[in-house]
Amino acid sequence: MSPPAVVFDKVTHRYDRKEALRDVSFTIPRGAVFGLIGPNGSGKSTTLNILTTLLSHTEGGVQVCGFDVRTEAAEVKSRIGFAPEEVQLYNGLSAREFVELSAALHHMDPEAGARRAEHLLAHFGLEDRMDELLGSYSKGMRRKSLIAASMVHEPELLVLDEPLEGLDVVAQRIFKDMIREHAANGKTVIYSTHILEVLEGFATHVLLLRDGQVLGYGSVEQVHADLGLEKLADAFPNPSGSRP
Ligand code: ADP
Ligand code: MG
Repeated sequence: MSPPAVVFDKVTHRYDRKEALRDVSFTIPRGAVFGLIGPNGSGKSTTLNILTTLLSHTEGGVQVCGFDVRTEAAEVKSRIGFAPEEVQLYNGLSAREFVELSAALHHMDPEAGARRAEHLLAHFGLEDRMDELLGSYSKGMRRKSLIAASMVHEPELLVLDEPLEGLDVVAQRIFKDMIREHAANGKTVIYSTHILEVLEGFATHVLLLRDGQVLGYGSVEQVHADLGLEKLADAFPNPSGSRP
């Protein structure tokens, strides 16, 4: 049997003095749509940056597809697609060029890369605008381009940090369909969000973080049952769970 998509074993991370994660353990099985949920500052981006090898954690073990993020970073990187929360896009490239560049960086055949780039961007409703420059795009259009670039090579593990930021309701629905399709092919998706409602009817598994610690973990139903709605809401200081 192939190893799990992600294993975190008692992971602690400190930025100078600030402890961002404490003793975090969880496993993400292959084929999961894994929701990493928690309020702003709870440690979601830190977790994702560690498992994508961008950040070296302080203590504990982290494996991705059976490879150690510290000692086998190249193996890890070749298996993932990552759309970070904060990223500088190339404003002088069109969306099409940007997604094709991502395909090339992942060693895709140029024609296959071009076809897939066009397919993904069209899926997101950008069919008539994919030759315009990213610098002229809205926040939502930039987010769509970034997501398309992260999944163009059909990675074993797709990692998306706050992917729904800036997307309208229609784009969110399209996005969810694309993610489900990705996972239906046996691939794994992990995404973070601070919006509690995104739990519903989408993620197969959930990890709830608060102040760098695991508050709940398991299926959506399990986390609901374990914590109860009150405690779940308690993890999100403001009423809707959306941004203050
Ligand atoms: P989230 O993505 O859930 O909003 P983060 O992982 O970005 O949370 O941050 C977790 C905690 O670590 C926060 O308290 C944040 O202020 C702190 N933090 C994040 N990045 C840094 C950094 N580069 N240096 C110092 N502290 C940081
Ligand atoms: Mg974050």
